[in-house]
Amino acid sequence: MGNFENRVYNFSAGPSCLPEDVLRECAEEMLNYKGTGQSVMEMSHRSKAYKPIIEHAESKIRELMAIPENYKVLFLQGGGSTQFAMVAQNLATKTGKAAYINTGVWAKKAIAEAKHLGVNVEVIASSEDKNFSYIPRVEKISGDYDYAYICFNNTIMGTHYEYIPDTGDIPLVADISSCVLSEPLDVSRFGILFAGAQKNLAPAGVTLVIIRDDLISENVRQGTPTMNMYKTHSDNGSMYNTPPCYTIYVLGKVLDWIEKQGGVSEIHKRNVEKAKLLYDFLDSSDYYHATAQKGSRSLMNVPFLTKVTDEAEAKIVNDKFVKEATEAGLVNLAGHRLVGGMRASIYNAMPIDGVKALISFMEKFAKEN
Ligand SMILES: *Cc1c(COP(=O)(O)O)cnc(C)c1O
Repeated sequence: MGNFENRVYNFSAGPSCLPEDVLRECAEEMLNYKGTGQSVMEMSHRSKAYKPIIEHAESKIRELMAIPENYKVLFLQGGGSTQFAMVAQNLATKTGKAAYINTGVWAKKAIAEAKHLGVNVEVIASSEDKNFSYIPRVEKISGDYDYAYICFNNTIMGTHYEYIPDTGDIPLVADISSCVLSEPLDVSRFGILFAGAQKNLAPAGVTLVIIRDDLISENVRQGTPTMNMYKTHSDNGSMYNTPPCYTIYVLGKVLDWIEKQGGVSEIHKRNVEKAKLLYDFLDSSDYYHATAQKGSRSLMNVPFLTKVTDEAEAKIVNDKFVKEATEAGLVNLAGHRLVGGMRASIYNAMPIDGVKALISFMEKFAKEN
């Protein structure tokens, strides 16, 4: 059996840590899944043994997220990044106009992709003026847009919407790659929700798409490949082509784990507790500070800087921080180059003890530097 000794606290933004119980179960079932004599990796996706695995993942996600009947759940590939194109190709079909809120890297990429596909993109709000350290307040979106688009949790900037814009009849699309299942979410407020798996759901390889029935149509933008039509995957139960079978199997186990913890509301409570520990520490420290503004802070991704402002000097201190943290068993704390400093991603699977260990290390490092 695998080696579960000497595991580290992994603060990676993605792929990121998975619940240890899930990894253990996968290891136990690796060579012979439930008496089939095969690994799930080796099974036909159309086999009798595999069918319940994908059905289980779908029913659990429906249950945990309280997804209404009139929404389809799709398991696709191509990551969050492919959704930037699919959203535009499938929805920008009437006026060809779409409203986007620009909150940093992932929103920008979605904007660029829609423009690339010839969509008439209107950036109706942006937080670029303050290096994306906050979420603009746009309570209401109206106009002849085919859809409106937001990135609900900004993995790199560490910001998160504390409200859902009211878009009336305009379908609201949200990228929830880095906050899916971290908090209760009213699915009925959205037209499409999507999430790459490798932050809060599973290993990389599957993209969860939750889409309202009426947005699934044959009427897509000209030139849209069959694989990029939601209808293709909806009509075929996510089996138009081979789905990422093993990843979906792990996803099912992660969902069972969330249920065992007490469901999304309990997970959310823990996430709030973990994030509060870290932000309170950062806010009261005279050595560190959080980069995201209060009222826009992510529960999942926490970028922070030290008080060292000189760029060259800061780089040396940050590198030292990351190196010594790694030696202490706290890994992947380097910040994204656009924010600098450090970033702790504290997804669902990060235990509170990991956050406490990080804070102890940070206290010690501040004293010594
Ligand atoms: C990671 C991430 C993506 C990109 O996901 P891929 O699966 O790598 O394409 C998109 N949006 C957000 C918010 C992310 O955090």
